[in-house]
Amino acid sequence: MHWWPGFAMFRRFSHESQRLMADPKALYQEVILDHNRKPRNFGRLDHASHRAEGHNPLCGDHLSLALNVEGDSVAGITFEGESCAICKASASMMTVAVKGKTRQDAQQLIDEFRAMATGELDCGSAPHHLGRLTVFAGMRDLPTRVKCAILPWHTLHAALNSVASTSTESNDDPMNAPIGNA
Ligand code: ZN
Repeated sequence: MHWWPGFAMFRRFSHESQRLMADPKALYQEVILDHNRKPRNFGRLDHASHRAEGHNPLCGDHLSLALNVEGDSVAGITFEGESCAICKASASMMTVAVKGKTRQDAQQLIDEFRAMATGELDCGSAPHHLGRLTVFAGMRDLPTRVKCAILPWHTLHAALNSVASTSTESNDDPMNAPIGNA
């Protein structure tokens, strides 16, 4: 299956941080598997008001995001594309998290997810609204995988700001900043 090579890579890279991820790792793997078997909000969205394409050249992830923003609310959101397990699970969970939220709340989640994934936000001590998305907190120890987890959020940011296309490697993207050691 498409996601398996990425998963194997995750297992290899996670070896060094096993001590930190003993318990969260089990939950993380369960969540990743669940969202890859049954991705939520996967498919096309008719009459989308906002769209964006996201690319992560380092892994080969490609994501197509479509939103229906009604008033100030994200009424509908779907994603399509070919990506590794981490990216797909992150996208699936993201659509669930932001559907029905205001643009402002969605932007807050984008900021918090990014801060968590890059290690700037310690979910154990600082207040946040990430809920189950905290299973991705271990990404900060896996610099090569951080961009896979962040890509959907990066693409959502682009869509909400009417940027048609974004890449984890582009310089003109407002979300672009050095991530980990990657
Ligand atoms: Zn990836």
